[in-house]
Amino acid sequence: NTFEELGLNEWLYTQCEAMGLSKPTPIQINCVPPILEGRDCIGCAKTGSGKTAAFALPILQKLSEDPYGIFALVLTPTRELAFQIAEQFNVLGKPIGIRVTVITGGLDMMKQGIDLSVKPHIVISTPGRLADHLQSCDTFSLKKIKFLVLDEADRLIEDDFGEQLEVIFEVLPKRRQTLLFSATMTKNLEDMQDLAMTKPFFWQQ
Ligand code: AMP
Repeated sequence: NTFEELGLNEWLYTQCEAMGLSKPTPIQINCVPPILEGRDCIGCAKTGSGKTAAFALPILQKLSEDPYGIFALVLTPTRELAFQIAEQFNVLGKPIGIRVTVITGGLDMMKQGIDLSVKPHIVISTPGRLADHLQSCDTFSLKKIKFLVLDEADRLIEDDFGEQLEVIFEVLPKRRQTLLFSATMTKNLEDMQDLAMTKPFFWQQ
């Protein structure tokens, strides 16, 4: 398999090569085509499997075809993961001038408010800080996002982000694509799947 065979546009597979990625990993081979087709997707895989690119590549392709407003929201449990995901979006999306904003605790709320108001394409956030912004200012809107990504979803649930996720889910559009990645599939995650997703494509390593 090659990145081209997954249905990715030339600028994207060229960018993968430029990054030194010679061929797609199993999660990319299996999850990229259904995401490009518009399906919700659940991928069970650990960090190191290439899961970030498995959602970043199809999101970047759709963004390049129809850029509008804040395009994707990625929720992840820790600040470190948020910055790692941002790095991959920035590198892969460089040819289209991608604008990525990271919203996590421990950083200046005011500056983040300004960053959000200038319409980044991709917002990567931990649930607590994003919920704080939603409750304290209205300089940005998530009403028109096309993609919601729940990264390390098992940890999002275990770490007690439930209340904050509710605040966030309330402002998201019903019409969107939801992609969920998790190392394990728990009962709580199945409940979340019922709440947030429609007939997802399911892939397990
Ligand atoms: P992740 O599972 O998203 O945390 O990715 C782990 C690491 O694998 C990252 O440093 C990626 O740059 C790298 N990676 C992602 N996709 C590929 C690929 N197809 N081939 C080689 N490395 C990759």
